[in-house]
Amino acid sequence: SVAICLFTADLRVRDNPVLRAALKAADEVVPLFVVDDRVCASGFVTPNRAAFLADCLADLDSALRGRGGRLVVRHGDVVREVVAVADETGAGTVHLARDVSAFAQRREARLRRVMGGRVRVHDSVQVVPPGAVTPAGRGHFAVFSPYFRRWGRVRVREPLAGPERVPVPAVRSERLPGRADLTGGEPSPFLPRGGEETAWRRAEDWLDGPIDRYADLRDDLAADATSRLSPYLHFGCLSAVELTHRARAVGGPGAEAFVRQLAWRDFHRQLLADRPVAAHEDYRPRGDRWCSDDASVVAWRRGRTGYPLVDAAMRQLAAEGWMHNRGRLITASFLAKTLYVDWRVGARHFLDLLVDGDVANNQLNWQWVAGTGANTRPNQVLDPLAQARRFDPRGDYVRRWVPELAEIEGAAVHRPWLLPEAIRGRLDYPAPIVDLSANAARFRRARSGM
Ligand code: FAD
Repeated sequence: SVAICLFTADLRVRDNPVLRAALKAADEVVPLFVVDDRVCASGFVTPNRAAFLADCLADLDSALRGRGGRLVVRHGDVVREVVAVADETGAGTVHLARDVSAFAQRREARLRRVMGGRVRVHDSVQVVPPGAVTPAGRGHFAVFSPYFRRWGRVRVREPLAGPERVPVPAVRSERLPGRADLTGGEPSPFLPRGGEETAWRRAEDWLDGPIDRYADLRDDLAADATSRLSPYLHFGCLSAVELTHRARAVGGPGAEAFVRQLAWRDFHRQLLADRPVAAHEDYRPRGDRWCSDDASVVAWRRGRTGYPLVDAAMRQLAAEGWMHNRGRLITASFLAKTLYVDWRVGARHFLDLLVDGDVANNQLNWQWVAGTGANTRPNQVLDPLAQARRFDPRGDYVRRWVPELAEIEGAAVHRPWLLPEAIRGRLDYPAPIVDLSANAARFRRARSGM
């Protein structure tokens, strides 16, 4: 007998309930990945994520080959390809992960329409699956704290060992896509390498020491002391369940703070599962009449706003395809509140570049910052200068990412407009594009008048 294991957001062999269930259901398994036309056409497959995905697929293929199998790759409509593979191999069941975006929910519904009871869905993406904890037995939690209290009490299943053998039947496969095959355009120069093997190497390093200082340093921009595991979690090279178990085994305030962030990931996903339209519609509409200020948006994208901390973070995004969480908060607040530009404009730019770019986490964090999401303080505006004092007090993060300012010492780097004219005149760095306090006042007026 044959079963299909459709890989989607779980590109790993370790602790993979989908692969495990497929292997249990049949003697042979088709480990299938479909490069979906619709996803490619949607603009979601950007150079950074395409390159990372290619690494993940190559690594998955090699892990499967080490177990006597291989990855089967197809291009086309995912449902049509699954049905074709099922016809070619006589597969009785298809196994896949439960997922939350509108696209993923439609994919599952379409599969069920054509394959009926042969479709088996498993929880392999989250620590606590959507719907497992709900207020009053249904719907979703709209506020994190009560969600987290319940989340912390859920008994998380034990991680599964990777299979020793994956017997694969004879079936046609297309070539594995290379790093540049899925899109035009160059990936960011300092993009991390994808794949389960790299993921676990990084996770072991993280669990072995730096996690202990996470509670103290997670907001320190220059310290760069977060795990940087987000792309591996996004593509499922790492199991969130296994990572949670391992972090809890380390224990202490650092590990606790880290596990709390993994709960944020589940929180946004349970929200999107219940309200998929929140990916593009305001979750809590505030009647905003957003400004359309093209020149400012261009300056923001390029990291040329004249506010060094905002610009440093935007440059990090372009260079690494990743940005520190504190940077994401500051730059998003600058766009959505200081410039008062529609959060969707910023979210789109982040999705274009982030290697961890994720519908649930990106769109709902943007909404959280813009105050149209699940934030209980929706009108708070982050002042980049106050943020600089707290989270980059010596200016090291700015000097790392804004070479035009590299020669300015200490915290003075955050206010280049105050430098003596002789120095300022030499810098190829713009004057501030807006007045922070006037713009913050404009935003508060707009929100309070609603
Ligand atoms: P760590 O601090 O080491 O945290 C560990 C893991 O917890 C992360 O890898 C991530 O999976 C999860 N996590 C951490 N913070 C959050 C959070 N606020 N919400 C949900 N999950 C979280 N994260 C993405 O994975 N993809 C995105 O597209 C994304 N877009 C964002 C956009 C904005 C405007 C903001 C404010 C945040 C966004 N985040 C996103 C959340 C967060 O910034 C990143 O997950 C984090 O910076 C990744 O770095 P890390 O792996 O070192 O995180």
